[in-house]
Amino acid sequence: MKILVINCGSSSLKYQLIDMSNEGALAQGLVERIGIEGSILTQKVNGEKYIIEEPMKDHTDAIRLVLGALVDKEHGVISDMSEISSVGHRVVHGGEKYANSVLIDDEVMKSLEDCIKLAPLHNPPNIIGINACKALMPNTPMVAVFDTAFHQTIPEYAYLYALPYELYKNYGIRKYGFHGTSHRYVSNVASEMMGKNIEDLKIVTCHLGNGASICAVDGGKSVETSMGFTPLEGVAMGTRSGNVDPAIITFLMKELNLGIDEINNLLNKKSGVYGISGVSSDFRDIEEAAESGNHRAELALDVFHYKVKRFIGSYAAAMGGMDCLVFTAGLGENSALSRSEICKNLEFLGIKIDEKKNSEGRGFAKEISTPDSSVKVYVIPTNEELMIARDTKEIVEDK
Ligand code: ADP
Repeated sequence: MKILVINCGSSSLKYQLIDMSNEGALAQGLVERIGIEGSILTQKVNGEKYIIEEPMKDHTDAIRLVLGALVDKEHGVISDMSEISSVGHRVVHGGEKYANSVLIDDEVMKSLEDCIKLAPLHNPPNIIGINACKALMPNTPMVAVFDTAFHQTIPEYAYLYALPYELYKNYGIRKYGFHGTSHRYVSNVASEMMGKNIEDLKIVTCHLGNGASICAVDGGKSVETSMGFTPLEGVAMGTRSGNVDPAIITFLMKELNLGIDEINNLLNKKSGVYGISGVSSDFRDIEEAAESGNHRAELALDVFHYKVKRFIGSYAAAMGGMDCLVFTAGLGENSALSRSEICKNLEFLGIKIDEKKNSEGRGFAKEISTPDSSVKVYVIPTNEELMIARDTKEIVEDK
């Protein structure tokens, strides 16, 4: 069974064709600049690149080229489109309706439209991607896998904000959480690495990339996460502020005479480690600048590590303990410095990392805690595409 996984953004699209017999990626690709000049598709098969530079006016054009690249005689990996048994789509927001992945039908499409107001930047391109695939593969079953679904188990007292209750009832103002597919994947791998049943474990997962979120997984269920109503809440990120005193927002709007779009832009695009360091939103650049003595770069890293550390402590409190800590995503998987700084002084929680193990090797799952650490600490490369493909397989087979 071969499953195509699609992750559609507003002008880009990532895809993987996964062979479920061994869960390996046959091909992976990225289409950029959809609908703008210079559209380009880059497909990788066994490390070899195949590039198509051709105008793509919309996502249907892009997906047509993706399918063409997959069946290409010289560079493709399948001989006919009919070999694609089903398609799994990453969808950012499923609102309160979806606690699990779902087979896409007209009713689901309607619900996705209803969720646009909750995710105005993300859900529209996801919907466009699904429609484009449906137009080109009308008889292929498709599944939606939501970033929010895993967090639907968060209890009411944890997802409610202390705002007038009617705002929750009338406008859906509550914590939803994101990166759910990644938190679910790495927490499952962690339980396998521990050789324990996930139902018996309290795990804190740190997805640290450009966007970053922390999740408390108790007995295999998300019970708390740092992102909220939108992906702006929580720790400081590449360019996002994370938590700030909400009064700062009205203060700045008044003092600097900022409109809604401007304040949104400031909080989402000009803040985080970029805003503090003034160097870059990429942690590699900031680490380099900090090493050469740039104080603001050092400060940006200190702020970031401190905030992540505080979330870990608070999630141990939320769950009444923890057995395992996981680092994943671009920074979590690659920055030994960040892992080391975040874990510093957490010995009182039972977290002790072995600096040698922490700094050796990357690209594979590894344990970095010392033998006497009561909390196991792991680095686990995330694989949201595989999780999407697994869900798609299960749902399509049950159909
Ligand atoms: P997203 O999917 O949210 O765009 P990723 O999970 O790909 O982000 O993470 C990207 C970020 O990971 C980069 O911006 C960079 O800050 C960080 N990163 C990647 N590799 C390294 C590294 N070797 N050292 C430090 N940071 C890294």
